[in-house]
Amino acid sequence: MLKCKDIVKQASDYRDREMSFGQRLQYRMHLLICHHCRTFSRQFDASIAMLKRLRKRQPDAHKEQIEEIKRKLDRL
Ligand SMILES: [Zn+2]
Repeated sequence: MLKCKDIVKQASDYRDREMSFGQRLQYRMHLLICHHCRTFSRQFDASIAMLKRLRKRQPDAHKEQIEEIKRKLDRL
């Protein structure tokens, strides 16, 4: 039986479907019995969705910062 700390560690793999069927089943079983991990899972999914929306809105947001850092490094 998975523990809460396992759910936190495996959340990304679960979301990205990088688990076997058996592992996914164990993960889901824990969510069924654990209110805290269900809440964590919902918040985790919401955070990922928000980051994706932000990336869509500002796909080049970090591009300028990266270019600025490159320019500064070139000056050294
Ligand atoms: Zn739990």
